Amino acid sequence: MKFFLILCLFILSAFAFDVGNGKSLVVTLDGPQGVFKLNDRNITILPHPTYPNKGFVIIPIDYHEQPHLIEAQWLNTNEHMGVEINVTCATYPTEILTVDNAKVCPPPEVLQRIALEKAEAENIYNHITPERYWNKPFIRPIDSITTSQYGSARTYNSVLKSYHGGVDFRAKTPLPILASNDGVVVLAKERYYAGGTVIIDHGEGVYSCYFHLSEFNVKVGDPIIQGQNIALSGATGRITGPHLHFGFMIQGIQTDPIEFMAQINTLFTQPFRIVQNTSQTGQ
Ligand SMILES: [Zn+2]
Repeated sequence: MKFFLILCLFILSAFAFDVGNGKSLVVTLDGPQGVFKLNDRNITILPHPTYPNKGFVIIPIDYHEQPHLIEAQWLNTNEHMGVEINVTCATYPTEILTVDNAKVCPPPEVLQRIALEKAEAENIYNHITPERYWNKPFIRPIDSITTSQYGSARTYNSVLKSYHGGVDFRAKTPLPILASNDGVVVLAKERYYAGGTVIIDHGEGVYSCYFHLSEFNVKVGDPIIQGQNIALSGATGRITGPHLHFGFMIQGIQTDPIEFMAQINTLFTQPFRIVQNTSQTGQ
């Protein structure tokens, strides 16, 4: 009898979501408990910021991922829920840029510096702080127009092919840069390619990044509140002119910042994408 009851509760349900390469998926779960499996990886189920009886997962998709179907699963107390994630091919523009040649073919004396800065950033992004520092929607760091969107296929000085890992905002004169949300400063320094850089840890593997700054108003270890003036925009690093480069690293993956904010902010403004228990009602 007990076995029969367990079988009745073990209902296989399928939910399907589309997500482009370079984008991220934020999915609300109709319960804060269980395990969310993505291939062989366990994704941490995070407490929902507005509904204590729900949880959510963030699934960032790398820019270089090809279209394919991911069979994910949410294993909670009563059910085994199938979640299909269909990775699609997002459409991105192309850009041809001319910058200082030393930022495309760096001289030998800066190669060690570049390698150290890369390793330092990877160490930061691969660390997941278990606590969450924010409890409200993310905001744009500057009130200005976008001059280059995330994901553009870029060619620098006709030789270096790359893609744009963030979004650029116009800032012809130095403008105050505002923290996208509460967090802690984990990097504030001049770097070879990114120029003046601030990185804020928001907890749970979410980092916001601000590049090409001319002046810092914060230092490593400073607690930050949303909207705080953390720096002035500038024209440092690999640039074609003054602007703010703004990005997000999510669980070590560089994803579209504007689209990520739109997704994560739905946690505060329904409707959100949800995987619901089929054996329960009235959550
Ligand atoms: Zn940029």
